[in-house]
Amino acid sequence: MIITHLKPDGDAIGSQLALGLFLEKQGKRVAMMNTDDVSPNLQWLPQSDRVTIFDGSMVQREAISGADCIVIVDTNSQNRLGGLGDAVLNSPAVKLLVDHHPGPEKWFDAKYVRESASSTGELVYEIISAIDPDSIDSEIATALYTAIMTDTGSFRYSHVNATVHRAVADIIERGGVKPESVHDAIFDSRSLSGLRLLGRALDSIRLTEDGRLGYLVVTQQMLRDAGADRDDTEGFVNYILSIENVCVALFFFETDSGVKISLRSKAGYRVDQLARAIGGGGHQNASGAFVDGDLQDAVEQALALAPKYLGPTDESTEVSDEEVALLSSLMEEKQRNK
Ligand code: 5GP
Ligand code: MN
Repeated sequence: MIITHLKPDGDAIGSQLALGLFLEKQGKRVAMMNTDDVSPNLQWLPQSDRVTIFDGSMVQREAISGADCIVIVDTNSQNRLGGLGDAVLNSPAVKLLVDHHPGPEKWFDAKYVRESASSTGELVYEIISAIDPDSIDSEIATALYTAIMTDTGSFRYSHVNATVHRAVADIIERGGVKPESVHDAIFDSRSLSGLRLLGRALDSIRLTEDGRLGYLVVTQQMLRDAGADRDDTEGFVNYILSIENVCVALFFFETDSGVKISLRSKAGYRVDQLARAIGGGGHQNASGAFVDGDLQDAVEQALALAPKYLGPTDESTEVSDEEVALLSSLMEEKQRNK
């Protein structure tokens, strides 16, 4: 059984599908289940209809408790699994984690994790390559490419290096992936109403702290006015970060039950500590949180705390690259032996 997080992004679904399809090729019986739907811009992914949505039924609970092994990809915390979380933790199955987030919870039996990995997709690629690289077919390659491309902002974020590009080159070659088509399917499939919402959102960007902190707010009213929905807000936060001198960007999204906050920072600044301070978590440069209550309060609270976290990153907290070196030497050895 392979499971990923709430509101699954490209890395989540791509990693889940790649691992699932690979294990099937290895003769395993695989089920893939999530709490939330595959978003419209990922539904074109080959075999994405294999992912079932948890509805709390007895049949599904039995499938979870009857599984030999549950692999969690792209999140390391129970509350990011939504309704599935309880069923997973109560299952007697062996629980494995494949992930690149900091601070995994304690309930996993075994882990393949590296915080400095560009994406969970990169880790899944390493696993597949170590076991049977020839099994990377067009479907697996498309899922892996999508995972890595989306989590690296199209190969430009700080964890992108030569190793990532070599992995991607191998994926493209083995699977005959057409990068342009994948990019087009994911990023050039906006609705007009979504783009109009973006226009209004950009209009509402505010800068504080001498232009180093930028934020924007999207309300339910703005969604209604534009005729847009929540999926249309994907990527909005990155526009704030594209402003000169802005080092930290906050995106507030009003929901029926509270406020979703997306936090992003440029290299050299970190938002994970701020995210944790408001009850969320994530990576140094990309984090999120969900806070109960009123939009105005959430904005005020986050803006009051943010300046404390605007200082440059403390290098001593950076993860060492020893593990990366170890793995790439293992992979190189494998290549030589072939
Ligand atoms: P996004 O802003 O794209 O929703 O999330 C960015 C990153 O922040 C995710 O990859 C995930 O690591 C983390 N994240 C998002 N929402 C939450 C949340 O509610 N709680 C925690 N702990 N982490 C979150
Ligand atoms: Mn990820």
